[in-house]
Amino acid sequence: MGDSFFNCCYVPPHPPGEEEPQRPRRSEIMASHPAHISPDKRFLIFFDFDETIVDETSDDMVVQAAPGQHLPGWLTDTYQPGRYNEYMQRVLAYLAEQGVTESDIRSVMEKIPATPGMLTLFQFLRNRPAKDFEVILVSDANTYFIECWLRRVGARQLFHRIFSNPATFNKDGRLVLRPFHSHDCPRCPDNMCKQVIVRDYVARRTQERGRPYQRIFYVGDGANDFCPALSLGPRDVAFPRRDFPMHRLITETHEAQPGEFKAVTVPWVSAEDVVQRLRKLVAD
Ligand SMILES: [Mg+2]
Ligand SMILES: [Zn+2]
Repeated sequence: MGDSFFNCCYVPPHPPGEEEPQRPRRSEIMASHPAHISPDKRFLIFFDFDETIVDETSDDMVVQAAPGQHLPGWLTDTYQPGRYNEYMQRVLAYLAEQGVTESDIRSVMEKIPATPGMLTLFQFLRNRPAKDFEVILVSDANTYFIECWLRRVGARQLFHRIFSNPATFNKDGRLVLRPFHSHDCPRCPDNMCKQVIVRDYVARRTQERGRPYQRIFYVGDGANDFCPALSLGPRDVAFPRRDFPMHRLITETHEAQPGEFKAVTVPWVSAEDVVQRLRKLVAD
């Protein structure tokens, strides 16, 4: 089913030898009033990107575009814990200095495999009635990597909003990355707390709609997906990738502080596990 989705929906990003048409990237992604989202959606579903939608970490994969497919030690030595965003800014600057182009980076991104079952989950969401799912992506990768990949599999239109670190090419052909925001959550890296994003989004949309969602879902894998999932309530469902950090943190919290983590927890190995549970929940 995943393969058939891929085949029927795959559209080459642009014909060989032709320039890709200019798209309003940042304005489209960052628009603060998504007027096209209908107010009657029953469910809100959040997705992480790296190791959740794609089966790799895009920041690691981009190294394949570097000369010799590796980064020099003087560069990797500059990484400091909690300052990952600044480190990636330096990596992207290095790639540009080495002559790596936008099309080199895009072709690396487009080769990243989907996580098992993920395209089936996308197809399930797409085939539901329009009033069912509002679909949001929250990622500490960057807008450029995510847009490349989603367009490649024909899934860009599924996502009503993408929250990620803004990244655009400057006139010198360098991909310039910036932090998403600043916050004071002690659990999260300086540039992004997904709980702040999720809370703000749910509060704003609930006000715009004039009523809450029936349920909120969160599909993720990382430690930075645990923080937003903590804000979910007892009718909501957290879908942590089994045996990944988000799952371990939920399990540890259940043991150390019972009642602190409120959402129903459904670990998944294939995203088809997520489809099975959603099928039951939307039938309620
Ligand atoms: Mg992740
Ligand atoms: Zn946080």
